[in-house]
Amino acid sequence: MAYLTAMRPHDLLVPTAAGLCCPPGGFHIDPLRPVDKALITHGHSDHARPGHGAVLATQETLDLMRLRYGDGFARSTQAVRYGETLSLGGVAVSFHPAGHVLGSAQIAVARNGLRIVASGDYKDVADPTCAPFELVRCEVFITEATFGLPVFRHGDPQHEIEKLLRSVALFPERAHLVGAYSLGKAQRVIALIRAAGYGKPIYLHGALDATTRYYAARVDLGDLRAARDAAKSELAGAIALCPPSALKDLWTRRFPEPVTAFASGWMRVRARARQRGVELPLVISDHADWDGLTATIAATGAAEIWVTHGAEDALVHWCTARGLAARPLRLVGYGEEDETSLEGAPQVETT
Ligand SMILES: [Zn+2]
Ligand SMILES: [Zn+2]
Repeated sequence: MAYLTAMRPHDLLVPTAAGLCCPPGGFHIDPLRPVDKALITHGHSDHARPGHGAVLATQETLDLMRLRYGDGFARSTQAVRYGETLSLGGVAVSFHPAGHVLGSAQIAVARNGLRIVASGDYKDVADPTCAPFELVRCEVFITEATFGLPVFRHGDPQHEIEKLLRSVALFPERAHLVGAYSLGKAQRVIALIRAAGYGKPIYLHGALDATTRYYAARVDLGDLRAARDAAKSELAGAIALCPPSALKDLWTRRFPEPVTAFASGWMRVRARARQRGVELPLVISDHADWDGLTATIAATGAAEIWVTHGAEDALVHWCTARGLAARPLRLVGYGEEDETSLEGAPQVETT
């Protein structure tokens, strides 16, 4: 392989304690600790942390970071458009849609004929709330592995929404509470509910307000209302969204006989739904499932795969069996915000 003589992957991108580092470019990707220059794939808090010097990200990711952390989240910021190529220390850098949440990007770094794509979190299925995943051919592909086990096949999210709407029709006197992560999942669930033809108001927990308003300025999410302003009688037969943690707290008492639902790829595992007391598990994920991960890896044409962020070993094994060079990155610190973690539930064993 020609690139091996020109440049070795580890000269271009190397895992360090602070995260993936590009020494010639002088930057880190999704760093876990404060660094001088950070390139951020998307706004989830396990990837987008405050306290860096310069932050380069899509405009949406910068906006979502500002919403969460306030104006002082970085010393300086630079918005990068999808497809635009920057030169950082002689390294060509470009951002490409990852299909994960609004503004999410894969970051491609290239030098001397070697291209590495750090995909961040991604999914390869349609999502009305963000730009679709773009395949970027490369020599080395860095993939997440949140649902990197063959048992995870997410299916059609619209079927899950139909399940929810059937339950709403069946119990018109009860409220339906849908636990959903506050950035991305909640807004996608709302968009899916609207796509199914549901036109009534949808009620929101206060913790979902800011990000949902940001999305609603870009995607039509219909009539959204604050649950705190609604009378209990108004909430009979209604759908309300809240962060997953709120499903178990006092907040639910304002609702008449609530049915609890939870939208997550983990809902494929019935034991997890039971463990959380979820009556209506909805298998809806913003991460690629097993088929999506393996199809994407194959399609990139990469001969070398670095696996991170989840069930690394099964995916490494799959790659190796197909003659690809593959290894787990074992970066720690990812999976605190989005559905990589289920608060209170055991994590997928990765070692
Ligand atoms: Zn994420
Ligand atoms: Zn993540």
